[in-house]
Formats: sequence, structure tokens, C-alpha cells
Amino acid sequence: MRIPLSSVALTGLETAYAHDALASGWISGTGAYLERFEAALAERTGRSHVIAVNSGTSALQLALLALDIGPGDEVIVPALTFVAPAAAVRAVGARPVLCDIHPRTWTLDPDSAARAMTARTKAIVAVDLMGHPADFDALARLGVPVVEDAAQAHGARYRGRPVGAEGIASVFSFHANKAVSTGEGGCVAVDDAGLMERMRLIANHGMSTARPYWHELVGHNFRMTNPTAAIGLGQVERWDELVAARRRVADQYTEKLRDTPLGLRPVAPWATWGCWLYSVTTPRCAELVAALRARGIDARGIWPALTSLPLYREAGPPCPVAEEVSATTAWLPTFADMPAKAVQDVVDAVRDVVETW
Ligand SMILES: *Cc1c(COP(=O)(O)O)cnc(C)c1O
Repeated sequence: MRIPLSSVALTGLETAYAHDALASGWISGTGAYLERFEAALAERTGRSHVIAVNSGTSALQLALLALDIGPGDEVIVPALTFVAPAAAVRAVGARPVLCDIHPRTWTLDPDSAARAMTARTKAIVAVDLMGHPADFDALARLGVPVVEDAAQAHGARYRGRPVGAEGIASVFSFHANKAVSTGEGGCVAVDDAGLMERMRLIANHGMSTARPYWHELVGHNFRMTNPTAAIGLGQVERWDELVAARRRVADQYTEKLRDTPLGLRPVAPWATWGCWLYSVTTPRCAELVAALRARGIDARGIWPALTSLPLYREAGPPCPVAEEVSATTAWLPTFADMPAKAVQDVVDAVRDVVETW
């Protein structure tokens, strides 16, 4: 593809930190960069404690395990999301209950969630979908712990507060296509010291910090490496710049596509949108994607609603909004280093296609 969907934005800062980490010999899951990266993330999210782990999916599993969620439990998950939240629920042995999204936020619909609550509902994973915070005040009223999945929402705000601070625990992914990236990686941010202690135990083989090789529970190895954290520290130091650069790309798209028949992602009055991948909506979405791809532009239709995957078909009530948004929404190439010329090329191609409609 001539213009990729996504591309990482690394500078000499990340390279220098990574070299320093390698030169120090601390290349596994302990080291000074891990401590600095976790501290920088705590400051960024306003949380008291952060643990860095090897992926966003591990981060979700870790939060669920620390909340003691397992076989026999149900966890509410939005039907429209990258699969990780539903997979993480399954991975800890619990049952994901897929609920619909709200048409004005594209995030978990609190009414749909309320209708799906049972005596077995132990938690909700609310995804800040495609840069839009979930409706946390309404979800909190349902009375079970809420885990915030902010993997796609670096830079977004919920009622003025940066995302990453809602619910009992917040999760980020630092996969290469996320706005702040370590290649592979993730973290969990919490305020409760006891919960963090439990997560550190689970993420490190269940091994007591006071007594080596004394295992208090069956744990995992979810550790991030020190060189990975070094890349992450550089990225967190550039957080505002990375978020602003994506936002500039998004604003150019919005401005230049304003008079086309394409729809935009809705944004609630209480939300500040943080652009991850820019999306457009049209009933002729598949056609638009095919035409752009034929022109060397890596546009993509978004994920299928999880309810349409055989693996998750039995996992909840019908989710017509999730299915509708899934069928009519496409991503346009979006990355921090995207040259204005590339944005213009995408815009020209889009206009070229929709003008024939
Ligand atoms: C990317 C993503 C994840 C998973 O992150 P990985 O780091 O790829 O495991 C989890 N949740 C959401 C909403 C994501 O977009």
C-alpha cells in the first residue's frame, strides 16, 4: 500500500533510551526504565499506581484476575470493539456478555448493560471506543466494578479528565498501531494499593516479593522488558505531541471532507475525542474501502460486531447498533507523522470515489 493505515512515530529520544537500557544489561522484566515508565504513566493518568505489562490483552486479563473474576462469573463487554476485552474475559474462565453500544457515543450503552445484569455479573469492561470515553457515570450506577479499556483513547477526556482514571482500573495498550506505542505492551493503572500488590504478584509468577521462589498463587509472566519500557518512556514524554499530531490529521480530514456525503463519528457533549484512527461512515462503506485500496490507500472497514463471530454468537442480546456501525464505518490512514500531502492524497481519492455516487 502506498499510504499505510498506521505507522509508528519514533524519534532519537526513544532510540537513545532503548540503547541506554540495552547497554545497562537490564534487558528482562526489571530495571530503571520500567520504574520510570510506570511513574510517568501514573502522572499522565492521575492514578496512584501503574504496572507495565507485555500487552494490552495481558493488562485486561491481569485486571480481571486481580478482581477475582473467573469461572461462573459474567462480565459485560461492548459488542463493538477489538476482540481483546471479550477474549480476556474468556481467558480468565468467565463469560463475556456482549451488550450494545449507544448510537450517540459508540461506547457501551448503559441501558443495554443494565438489562444484561444478573446475579453473576461481576464487572464491566467499558471500552473508550475509537477515542471516545465511555459513559462512566451511568455505568457506575450499575453497581459492579468497571474496568476502563482506554487502549484507543490516548488524549481523550471524560468530563474534562484525561482518560485512564475512570473505574476501578484502567488499561492501555501500547501496540504499534496505538497513539502511544512500545511495539507490544500495555499497562494497568489503579488507585488501590492492595489491588496493585495483587497485580504485581499475578504478573510475576505469583511469587512473593519478600521470599524468592515462594509462590502464593498460580501466576503468569506478564512482564514488560526494560528496553521496551525505555521506548515507552520516550513516547510518554512525547504524549501531548503525539496526540496533537494525530488530532491535526483528523482536523484536516474533517475540514476537507465536510461537504461530502460521508458521516463522522458522533461525540457526546461531555466527551473530548482523542483521535486514534479517523473514521467515516457511509452505507456504501465496503465500496469506498475497495476503491481506496485499489488506489493504494490502506483504508479498512472496522471490526465486525463480536456478536457476528461464531465464537461469541451466544454471548448476549441482539446488538443492532453495533452491527449497524460495524457495517457502515471505515478507517482512513491516520498516524502522527502523516505528511499533509498524504492526507490530501487520501482526501482526493475519497472525493474521487464519492463524486461518482
Ligand atoms: C489494541 C487493543 C487492545 C489489546 O491490546 P494488545 O496490546 O494488542 O494486546 C485491547 N483493547 C482494545 C480496545 C484495543 O484496541
